[in-house]
This record gives sequence, C-alpha cells and structure tokens, in this order.
Amino acid sequence: MPAQAPAVTVPHGMETCPFCRIREGTLPAHVLYQDEEVLAFLDIYPCAQGHTLVVPRRHAASLAECPPATVAALFHAAVRLAGAIQEGLGAPGFNLGVNDGRAAGQEVPHVHVHVIPRYGGEGGGVQRVVKTRGPVQPLAETAAKILAALRR
Ligand code: AMP
Ligand code: ZN
Repeated sequence: MPAQAPAVTVPHGMETCPFCRIREGTLPAHVLYQDEEVLAFLDIYPCAQGHTLVVPRRHAASLAECPPATVAALFHAAVRLAGAIQEGLGAPGFNLGVNDGRAAGQEVPHVHVHVIPRYGGEGGGVQRVVKTRGPVQPLAETAAKILAALRR
C-alpha cells in the first residue's frame, strides 16, 4: 500500500482565498508594495483609477483577528500608498475604507483596506456609504453602551 501523504492543515477559508493566492503568486495581480506584514495590489474592479487594496500577508477575516502590529502596518502602508497614488495619478484626495463583516458588505473574507483615490466631482464621503439613516438614539445612551463594552 502506498504511504499516505501527510495531512496538510490549511486554516479554514484559506483554500480558495483569492488574496492568499495573490500572496502565494498563484493568482496574478498588479502588486504595488509588499513587506513582511502586508501586501498591496490594484483592485480588479476599481471604483476609481488607482483603487488599491492593502491586505495582511497572514490570512485573517476581520481586523479584530489581526495583532496590533499588523493593523498598524496595514494603515501605515495604506497612507504611504495613498500618497504615491495621489502623486502618480494626480488625485487630490482619497478615501480609506474597510468592510468588516458581511453586514458591512465584506465579500472577500481576508482583511483589506481599500485606498480609493478621489479626483473631485464624484460627491460623497465615507459617511455616505450607508444610504439609510438608523433611528436616532440619544447620544449619551449610545456612548454609555460603547464605554461599557470598552471597559470589559
Ligand atoms: P469587499 O470584500 O466588498 O470589501 O471588497 C472586495 C474587493 O476585492 C472588491 O473591490 C473586488 O473588486 C476586489 N477583488 C476581488 N477579487 C480580486 C482579485 N483577484 N484581485 C484584485 N481585487 C480583487
Ligand atoms: Zn486569505
């Protein structure tokens, strides 16, 4: 009987994760930057010319799963890339965005920071990505709930 191949343990979600495949080089991408923590490449369906995604090298679905150093590296790279995108493409502004969780519109379950250059005239800002307005609760009540969670 042939010897059985050793079991390969692939963390759940990584088998077909497109961003893990880009990191491994098995899915082509226009990679703009990489270091030991993060990788950045052009979004395949850009909202604007230069729309870039910055992702941690290590697979994680949510920002909350990333160590603080990885979160810092993600945003450090995002800001640096935003500067290069602005300079290289002549964009006077940019939006940074993270869709964290399905409820927030996350489609690819590998953390990514969107860097979206803005050229002017498109209208809107990140406060307007949610088109509906929730019922307005007293701010003090809302703050108390969040502060209680922060203390836990
Ligand atoms: P979301 O999960 O909604 O925050 O966004 C996922 C983003 O990933 C979308 O903007 C897609 O266009 C982008 N995307 C999906 N697959 C690829 C890929 N293979 N290469 C580059 N960008 C991708
Ligand atoms: Zn992944």
